[in-house]
Amino acid sequence: MHEMSIAVNIIDILKGEMEKHDAARLKGVKLKIGELTAIEPESLRFCFEALTEGTNMEGAALTIEEISLKGKCLTCNTTFKLDRYFTTLCPRCGGKPGNLISGRELDIESMEIE
Ligand SMILES: [Zn+2]
Repeated sequence: MHEMSIAVNIIDILKGEMEKHDAARLKGVKLKIGELTAIEPESLRFCFEALTEGTNMEGAALTIEEISLKGKCLTCNTTFKLDRYFTTLCPRCGGKPGNLISGRELDIESMEIE
């Protein structure tokens, strides 16, 4: 379950930030997770809750925003939603998707501390 190691990493970053700001408690955190990371939000939530139990992060409100996979057509520059295997073609001209615009995110968008 790769969500566990991801939760460990996220908690590490949060811990560092809390120390930097001399925070006593984590109230909430907002994550952005791209579809391509293949993270199950519910598993991640479960791991986060298990790992923060009994710490100053316990009970923090975890908000997970899922970011869908989007690419830009190489031919006409239309932005469109892709499947995970990049087999979707441009709905406007049938062209192939070029640059990935979103879907790789694994970011801590914001955190609330006190
Ligand atoms: Zn196109």
